[in-house]
Amino acid sequence: MTLMTADAFKDSLRRMSKRVFMFGEEIKDPTDHPVIQPSVNAVAMTYELGHHPDHEALLTAESSLTGKRINRFTHLHQSTDDLVKKVKMLRLLGQCTGCCFQRCVGMDSFNAVDIVSDKMDQALGTNYNLKFREYLKHVQDEDLVVDGCMTDPKGNRALPPGEQADPDLFLHVIDESKEGITIRGAKVHQTGAINSHEILVMPTRSLKETDKDYAVACAIPADVEGIIYVYGRQASDTRKLEAGEIDVGNYRFGGHEAVVIFNDVFVPWERVFMCGEYQFTGEMVETFAAYHRSSYGGCKVGVGDVLIGATKLIATYQGVENASHIKDKLVEMIHLNETLYACGLACSTEGVKTTSGTYLVDMALANICKLNVTRFPYQIASIAQDIAGGLLVTMPSEKDFSHPEIGPLLEKYLVGAESYPTEWRQRILRLIENLTIGLGAVGYLAESMHGAGSPMAQRIMLSRLTDMEHKEGLAATIAGIKEK
Ligand code: SF4
Ligand code: FE
Repeated sequence: MTLMTADAFKDSLRRMSKRVFMFGEEIKDPTDHPVIQPSVNAVAMTYELGHHPDHEALLTAESSLTGKRINRFTHLHQSTDDLVKKVKMLRLLGQCTGCCFQRCVGMDSFNAVDIVSDKMDQALGTNYNLKFREYLKHVQDEDLVVDGCMTDPKGNRALPPGEQADPDLFLHVIDESKEGITIRGAKVHQTGAINSHEILVMPTRSLKETDKDYAVACAIPADVEGIIYVYGRQASDTRKLEAGEIDVGNYRFGGHEAVVIFNDVFVPWERVFMCGEYQFTGEMVETFAAYHRSSYGGCKVGVGDVLIGATKLIATYQGVENASHIKDKLVEMIHLNETLYACGLACSTEGVKTTSGTYLVDMALANICKLNVTRFPYQIASIAQDIAGGLLVTMPSEKDFSHPEIGPLLEKYLVGAESYPTEWRQRILRLIENLTIGLGAVGYLAESMHGAGSPMAQRIMLSRLTDMEHKEGLAATIAGIKEK
């Protein structure tokens, strides 16, 4: 089985025994919990499209490890064409789900760990890459979802891991034996963690020798003993517990994040891909970040397509679609959205082959991509809210619309252009609300700001990756300054 179906994926999650907490209670059946279920559907789409004849070329790939046809989310990129296909695949999934579909963090982690474990092996004589590729074959063959687990809680940001008041504020190795290692700590903001089969832990920052216990990369089954998940709540999340679907906006799909706590978790050596090699932590973080920053040039663009479509529809339902300023604002949305896509494609076509054979995106352009993502979705959302009008935030609930007395009154007074039912207006306004204020804004806006690193992280990378002396030389030559 190298290509699981969407239903088989859901069943595979149901068979797991994760400890999951939400709203102060431990929940027994996370896969079918109404708050989590839309996020399961979003991941399931990464399986479903792999079986669709129109999309299998994007959603699947030939494994460089086994030659089998696998889901692209488990693939090591073998060419710039693979990198481009990844961005296109993510845009498609954003269009089909209108949310974060969660599976990319694992894919970006595989490629980063492959590249850096190979470099460690070459420099230090370790055998991490072989072990990692054996692990990845298992992931590919079983078509697993893997939570790439990077972000530590970090405590006092001014202090390195070993100087924190509590040594567990960064995940670290607390014990080593002949059989393996034991890790303790937590990871926060973990996208799709509760929908994952496996967790791939990586360090969160560049480390010095004094902090080498924190230099750890390893893989564990997501329901192994000692792991606890705490669901991260989202704006309007309890609307999913109400009867009806309209008020949720995007009632079938959604993302989720969770705090993942590692209470002394044992990891056998065959699943350890870094243990103490602090010199390579910075490179692992930067390589993963570059991949994930490029991914946003696909997924956020797909969600942007949904929001642009919703904005055009609400303009039409309200009878203003032919106003020149509305047309111009829609063009502005398109311009911003396609600029993000252009960045995602550019860093992919400029990708390079690394020593492991895996292709890496152009780091500088990937950071440009993500820096634009920290801004443009907010501008797109602002235009959507402008065109949607005030009813976006003042509309009565779905239950009021179905009330025998006030329902017909609301139908009558909240209608827009006469050829469209009030309910269509209601549904599209709720979708725009979802994407720009509510549940979906977690993925489309706040995650655009902070996911794969906050904007300052991209600016630091850009200042490091730019050859300023070269630019100075260009200017000096043109200006006739000979000494430069
Ligand atoms: Fe994938 Fe985008 Fe979600 Fe990251 S934010 S996991 S790239 S869909
Ligand atoms: Fe993300």
